[in-house]
Amino acid sequence: MEQFRKVLVLYVGGTIGMQQNDKGALIPIPNAFLQKIKYHSEMHDAEKAKKYFRALKENELILPPFRATGINTVIYELIEYSPLLDSSNMSTKEWVRIATDIGRNYNKYDGFVVLHGTDTMAYTSSVLSFMMEGLQKPVIITGSQIPIFETRSDAKDNVLSSLIIAGCYNIPEVCVFFANKLLRGNRTAKISSDDLDAFDSPNYHTLVDVGINMKINHHHIRKVDDSVHFKLHTNLNSKVVLLSFFPTITREMLQSYLKPPTQGIVIQSYGAGNLPSNRPDILQVLREAVEREILVINVTQCARGAVSNSYECGMVLEMIGLTSGRDMTVEAALTKLMYVLGLPELTYLQRVELMKTDLRGEITNT
Ligand code: ASP
Repeated sequence: MEQFRKVLVLYVGGTIGMQQNDKGALIPIPNAFLQKIKYHSEMHDAEKAKKYFRALKENELILPPFRATGINTVIYELIEYSPLLDSSNMSTKEWVRIATDIGRNYNKYDGFVVLHGTDTMAYTSSVLSFMMEGLQKPVIITGSQIPIFETRSDAKDNVLSSLIIAGCYNIPEVCVFFANKLLRGNRTAKISSDDLDAFDSPNYHTLVDVGINMKINHHHIRKVDDSVHFKLHTNLNSKVVLLSFFPTITREMLQSYLKPPTQGIVIQSYGAGNLPSNRPDILQVLREAVEREILVINVTQCARGAVSNSYECGMVLEMIGLTSGRDMTVEAALTKLMYVLGLPELTYLQRVELMKTDLRGEITNT
């Protein structure tokens, strides 16, 4: 029996659809991506489309047959954004648009794929996870390091696996798919600007490993809570900043970060969450910030690991009221702060509590 699935693809921009301009710089090319994949036999089954699906829209394609998942037909519809963006040019406005488009189409599709630049992909995948409460379908963000128009492109593999996972598997999370790995979106970081294997999930397991077969790591996938209905949160508070600490920082430098309108700050501290305990000038500025009810979140500047208070230099921070971000990535901590500060009618302490709570799998409970 035919088992159909429908996937909505939002093509937002990124290297995946770029070509070189006359100065040799990569820029997104409008109206070219769909034409490219439509005539690519591994991405679209033109015969099947003609034979069985005459009613397909211009922007609807069919995945050619793939190894057994129990599903034999995945139809995917591609919506191209205008303008297409290098992800370095993206911000809150685009995050809201992506979340709203998924929200508006939530009941019509089995899964969603977002084609996106790699540079800020980890911010987008983190923020979308907070914006979508009670998500019960896969939302997979992917892209490529080499444009689809080039011979050695990694785009085809990334897009095909993303479509298959979004259409056929029950993974109710915002994820990033890259280089044969499906990662939890709010655990993801871009770790390489030139390797094809550009993303990592430093503190959490992969959700799917793609080899000859797709190895689904069920144990690490979030369980759906049926009692929570899908709800979009589009009110993000952008009055947040990010500061990576360094030994020669001055009191004035820190103060300038914490001036109004700042309402929240993510501090990347050393190692397991340490700042200098012998700098009363610095500690005083942080104490005053907490007294002014600025949310100060402490995460590590190490690529892997968590903050703890194993050292005096870390313990002192909890004493003056910094909130431990434990093992959250910088991208997750910053976007969670935007989300938590955007929630209406909460007290300062309730917001602090939410920052410490595991909302979407972004933080490990100890
Ligand atoms: N600058 C590009 C972007 O983030 C890089 C990429 O997509 O790989 O849009």
